[in-house]
Order: sequence, then C-alpha cells, then structure tokens
Amino acid sequence: MADEETLKSCKFCFGTEEDSTLSFVHPCRCRGSIHWVHNQCLGMWFAKANAVQQVMCTQCQTRYQKQLTLKSWRSWWFPRLGVDMFGLLEISVDLWITWRTVSGFVGMMNGTKGIFRELLLCSMWKCFVASGRRFCYYGNLGLRFASAMFRVSIDDYDERREIKERLPTDMDWDKISQSAVLNR
Ligand SMILES: [Zn+2]
Ligand SMILES: [Zn+2]
Repeated sequence: MADEETLKSCKFCFGTEEDSTLSFVHPCRCRGSIHWVHNQCLGMWFAKANAVQQVMCTQCQTRYQKQLTLKSWRSWWFPRLGVDMFGLLEISVDLWITWRTVSGFVGMMNGTKGIFRELLLCSMWKCFVASGRRFCYYGNLGLRFASAMFRVSIDDYDERREIKERLPTDMDWDKISQSAVLNR
C-alpha cells in the first residue's frame, strides 16, 4: 500500500508515473486514488464537460484554479460548438426576442410604442432568454470559444489561493446550476 501513496496514478486512465512521462496535477481536494490526474486526461475531460463541470469538481465542490495563456494565433482553431439545428433555432429565437424587446423599449421611450406591449415583450424575454438554462448554454459556448484561443492550464490545488479567490462567483455558479436543474 505504501507504493500507492508514493506513486502517482491518474484517476481517468489509471496510468502511473512509471507508465509514461505525462505530467500530473491535483486540481481539487479529492484524495486517495482520485487525487492525481494527468494534465492531458484532464484536458480531454474538459473538452466534454458541461458548464458546471468546467468550473468545479462535482465530487468535492472545489473550484478549479485555472490559468489562461493566449495561444499563438497560428494554433487557434475554430471551436467545435456542438450546436445542432434545434440549438440554432433557439439562438435565433433568443436573438429575435432580445431585438424586439430592445427596439420596443426604445419605441416606448419615444412614445411610438404602447407600454403594455413592451411589458409583455419584457416578460417574454425574462422567461425565455434570461433563464438560468440559457445562461448556462451561452456560458458553455463562450468557454468553447475561449478554449480555441487560450490554453487553459489547471494549477495544483492550493488552499491559501482558494481563500483569496473566494468571490461571489462561487455562489453564482451554484445558483446557475440549481436553476438549470429546475428549468430542465
Ligand atoms: Zn491519465
Ligand atoms: Zn475533487
């Protein structure tokens, strides 16, 4: 058992330090056999993970300590957005409602559009576009775009840094993920 403690092994591919020269990272508070992970395997996991999984370990709720470095523009690539026909339709509807709401609001301020019509549009916008589910969706798209231009590296988990970086965004993400579940 002593070997297991000294020899790092990857929680995704179970490869150990002896199997390859891949670099290891421990991105969260998880211990034991899931303490260490290959940087490469973690990167592959992030490529498939959803918006919440990109931000924190869902097992121990640790927020990942990421570092963004800009890639040289030659290695930028167009991200695989994974938007299907239904996704495109939803985005178009979002854009359309947003545009109608904004232009209606301008019309109302100019006195050319009725106030009740604008209230109706606003509540539609609130209900369909400004929902947690949609925020998650657009957050995920944004991350994919960012990953095309930035190299995301995960640092080893450092408790002192976590305390320093504990911002309201931790709670915001909780709220977003909860409302995403409710809106499903
Ligand atoms: Zn691995
Ligand atoms: Zn963890």
